[in-house]
Amino acid sequence: MSPGYLELYKSGELLKRKELLFKHYTECSLCPHTCKVNRISEKGICRSGSTVKIASYNSHHGEEPPISGINGSGTIFFSGCNGRCIFCQNYPISQLNTGKEVTDAQLAAIMIELQCRGCHNINLVTPTHFLPSIVHALAIASEKGLHIPIVYNSSGYARVEIIQLLDGIIDIYLPDIKYADNTTAYELSGFKNYVDHNRVALKEMYKQVGKLKIVDNIAVKGLLVRHLVLPDNLAGTDKSMEFLSREISHDLHISFMDQYFPAYKAINHEKMSRRISEDEYNISLDFFYASDLHNGWIQQHLEQ
Ligand code: SF4
Repeated sequence: MSPGYLELYKSGELLKRKELLFKHYTECSLCPHTCKVNRISEKGICRSGSTVKIASYNSHHGEEPPISGINGSGTIFFSGCNGRCIFCQNYPISQLNTGKEVTDAQLAAIMIELQCRGCHNINLVTPTHFLPSIVHALAIASEKGLHIPIVYNSSGYARVEIIQLLDGIIDIYLPDIKYADNTTAYELSGFKNYVDHNRVALKEMYKQVGKLKIVDNIAVKGLLVRHLVLPDNLAGTDKSMEFLSREISHDLHISFMDQYFPAYKAINHEKMSRRISEDEYNISLDFFYASDLHNGWIQQHLEQ
């Protein structure tokens, strides 16, 4: 199965999309914050300029089984983020912006290197604020022989108009459904109207790529949604599972995660300064099963 971006590259469409995306570097609306800043000289909420900055890249074996496979997922961690999650485990990268600037050609070379190492896919971690450069790099890498699927790994805080521009470029969407309440999303992550944007974006992603398609135990196309259970049900697990089941599909693949721990500023937060209890996790799992979802990776790390 050939990744969609190769067809778009051959037809010239990939470069047209790149041009449309590049306009956002001078008046940025790449995400729902719509800062409208000129990224060449100013910075918006993501604190990022118009040159890609990456923290690291590697063959990663800790993603969901069909994403990591045997050879690993070719993860590229982008510095900066449009979120302000008080519990971010990667806060030196996302909030302190540690990393190294690379040109689009260098980013393309990294993609090719990860493919040569045998990675099953290119896994773009927190890519939204650098999408113009990423699509440009993808065009360069296509010319040089890139042919593995592209994974879009994000918080799920996305503008549907931008996701529409990725139609045919992204093979596997790997977004979060973090919250079911806008006030909580703003308090814990600085996302305005997260639920509204997230839900419309997830629907658009499913429309583009459909159910996760797995060939020889490796994902090649589709939507896989992640959900991290939070203390006191701050993630709104019941409402989120109900939404996914009712408005997207019972067959949707979900990665259901229990590994929350209080990192970064969460240690001082009244409700977020502890791990979830076994009871809380089991209640959340009941929500998952009650919502009639069939395909879940249940990641259980709680000490029993
Ligand atoms: S990508 Fe950054 S600058 Fe652009 S709208 Fe989002 S937060 Fe603002």
